[in-house]
Amino acid sequence: MALSVIEVSSTSTQQFIDITDRVEEVVRKSGVRNGICFLYVPHTTAGITINENADPSVVRDIMETLERLVPVNGRYRHLEGNAHAHIKSSILGHSVCVLIEEGRLGLGTWQGVFFCEFDGPRRRKVLVKIIREQ
Ligand code: ZN
Repeated sequence: MALSVIEVSSTSTQQFIDITDRVEEVVRKSGVRNGICFLYVPHTTAGITINENADPSVVRDIMETLERLVPVNGRYRHLEGNAHAHIKSSILGHSVCVLIEEGRLGLGTWQGVFFCEFDGPRRRKVLVKIIREQ
């Protein structure tokens, strides 16, 4: 199947953006009933993760914990000033895979897909590849 691109515009320096509905839309438009949805973030200071989207405190806890572990103003060698963002990006990772079941994302009840901005605000991309089950 063709590659789809979800464009994301972050509005803060660090921000988790729930893109679940937009991914569902790509899956629906693909017409694939069963398969795999592969999501890839082609950026060095952003990431992607799946976690709870029911209680917003969960995302805040994740962001605050990352900030404690990798503070913006820590001591780093990278001179661009965004070393913390590169590190957070690597901790969370650049891809997630979700099963497609009966035309829908096979997420758990409380799960959502989040694009994770660490050096915004910027315009970003999430690449989506849908693989149909044989
Ligand atoms: Zn950098």
